[in-house]
Parts: sequence; C-alpha cells; structure tokens
Amino acid sequence: MKEALTTKHLTKQFDGVKAVNSLSISFEKGIITSVIGPNGSGKTTLINVLTGMLPINEGTVAVSGVELNKVYPYDVKAYGMTRTFQQVRLFEQMSVLDNILIVLTERNVFSALFERHTRYHLEQAEELLKQVDMWKKKDELAENLSYGQRKLVEIARALAMQSEIYFFDEPFAGLFPEMRKIVISAINDLKKAGKTIILVEHDMELIRKLSDHVIVLDSGKLLAQGEPEQVLNDKKVIEAYLGE
Ligand code: ADP
Ligand code: MG
Repeated sequence: MKEALTTKHLTKQFDGVKAVNSLSISFEKGIITSVIGPNGSGKTTLINVLTGMLPINEGTVAVSGVELNKVYPYDVKAYGMTRTFQQVRLFEQMSVLDNILIVLTERNVFSALFERHTRYHLEQAEELLKQVDMWKKKDELAENLSYGQRKLVEIARALAMQSEIYFFDEPFAGLFPEMRKIVISAINDLKKAGKTIILVEHDMELIRKLSDHVIVLDSGKLLAQGEPEQVLNDKKVIEAYLGE
C-alpha cells in the first residue's frame, strides 16, 4: 500500500462554514506532501481532524488502509501520528530537557519531574536537542525561550515521538535562516528514514525545495495537486493566492 492516509468526502463544519468541504485526498507513504492554500482555506482544520483533535462531521479517514469514521487519540497513537502546532505548545514550567524526556519516557508530568531517567533516555534527549541546536538551552524553562527556540524544541519533541506520519503546521513561520536550515534538515532526515511527512507551509521557495507532492486547498476544497513546479505555476492556484 502506497497511501499512509486517505480521506473520502471528509467534511468539518463550524457553524455552517465548511472549513474542510467534502475533501478526498491521499498522502503517500515515505514522501513529503505539502498542503498549501490561502489563509482560512482549512489547512490547520484538516490536520486537526486527521489527528483526532476535532471530530469529523462527514466522510472517512483511512490510515494505512483501515477506514475510520472517527479518529480517536488512541488511533493517533496506535497508527504513529505526530503533529506540531501553528501555536507552539510546550510544558512552560519545565526545562527544555524535561520537555524532551517526558516524550521519550512517556511518563506523566509528575514522574517526569521526580523520577530519575535512564542514561539511555538522557543520551537520546541530548542527541535530539543537539540536532536542533538547543542542547545549550537544556536547563532553561520553556517559558523563557524565544519564539524560534520554542519551535525548535517542538520539532525535537516531534522527533522524539518516533512516529510514522508527521504533520508540521507552518514549522518555518517566523524562523531565522539558521533555524530554518535546522528544520529543513530535520524534515529531510525523517524522509530519509522512510517517514511520511505532511507539511503546511506558506513560503513557496521552501515548498519547491522540500515537497514531492503538493495539495492546494481553497475554501476547504481541493483546488489542485501534483508536482511542485506544475502546481505552483497553475493559474487557478496563483489566482487563489492573489485573492488573499
Ligand atoms: P488555515 O489553516 O488554512 O489558515 P483554518 O483551518 O485555520 O485555515 O481555518 C479554516 C476556516 O475554519 C476559517 O474560516 C476559520 O475561521 C474556521 N475555523 C477554524 N477553526 C475554527 C474553530 N475552532 N471554530 C470556528 N471556526 C473555525
Ligand atoms: Mg493554519
């Protein structure tokens, strides 16, 4: 099976507005698929529905060929799906290191703070934090980090999940070029490891550089899809962005 995720007539409605509107698309295994579209076109809502954070109104989602009418948090875990948030979410009162350890050890907040960690987990955390150049900040509380640093820690947390399917919601927004490079190589490493990546991004240069396949949403519907060059030169797509 080539598809990691497939939606059929997937619909998510908010007070009469169909944020995702009868969407039928597939995300292929082991490649980077970018989801683009003007502001409000339903990109984040699509991720929210696929990761069980919002209930589906109509349609189905198939994960590795298994069709679901509802996506529960345990499905998300069982099928190995991980996401990052447009608005980064960290444990604010915990150190950078603990924010990673809590994922690696899958413990609750209390035990993560009070139990001793095995050397194995500490070594893994060190490796992950070095990968995003945040090891030097390991003892800093999350709440004291800059915007970009928070995003890097969130990326390290996602990597710590060791999932099969990764959703990144605008991971590059507001990052300095050096930080962008780190996120680019993290995403490329995931791809090399055979993972499925779903990337929501605004920067067209990054879309060109990173994506194997591009899906364009407009008002919750599929506007276009295909190879990056072809899609980004599509007149319909250019017009949708001009209307922003
Ligand atoms: P994008 O990520 O592409 O910018 P969103 O998925 O955030 O778009 O939003 C799609 C549409 O759904 C917008 O019209 C937005 O206002 C609406 N929307 C998103 N989340 C909610 C919500 N929790 N409650 C009500 N409306 C929402
Ligand atoms: Mg969004």
